[in-house]
Amino acid sequence: MSWTNLFRIVFVLLMAGHVLVMYSLARTQQHGFGFDLNTAILSTLFALLMLLPLAPAIALSDLPEAYSRTARRRRFKNGLCPTCRYPVAPSGGDTCQECGTRMIEPDPYRFTWAMARRFAFFALIAWIAGSIASEGWLIADEAAFRKEAEAEALKGRGSLLRDRRWPGNGYLAWDVDEGYFTAQGGTFSIQYSLPPAPTNAESE
Ligand SMILES: [Zn+2]
Repeated sequence: MSWTNLFRIVFVLLMAGHVLVMYSLARTQQHGFGFDLNTAILSTLFALLMLLPLAPAIALSDLPEAYSRTARRRRFKNGLCPTCRYPVAPSGGDTCQECGTRMIEPDPYRFTWAMARRFAFFALIAWIAGSIASEGWLIADEAAFRKEAEAEALKGRGSLLRDRRWPGNGYLAWDVDEGYFTAQGGTFSIQYSLPPAPTNAESE
């Protein structure tokens, strides 16, 4: 694999990681336990919005390509083969005697729409993959919490509260009367976000 492609893969992974964290931030701010379509849509739109400040990174994704083009041009101007650095004899003709590269001046590196399209494509992959990974991670954390709560219930306990796994924000909570819910809060106060009380409770 070329350095250019390796760099692009790392770049997409970093953007996907950014989406994962941003999605998680929005999703766990919504006071909901478990998957919810509206929350998922809102979270993924928030993650997309948070990708926009990375637009200047459009040049970053092409850094190895820009570097290699510049290096090839410099070698050519110094009378060397752009590919293998073999000195080119004045009477050497139009191909390198060492590796057969055509001795024509390499194109300079400049911004093109192809670059912008490539960046948009990378951002799209990162957005989709990051959002799915984030939702999957949060659902897995909630499923793990359900198991922990069931284990607590078997021991005869009636409630459980713990932090969401990173990068989730807030707490996961379970209560034998209220079921599963989420909580937000700092060190000194925890505000519970309870599901609506069943309406038949008052009529009895
Ligand atoms: Zn050469």
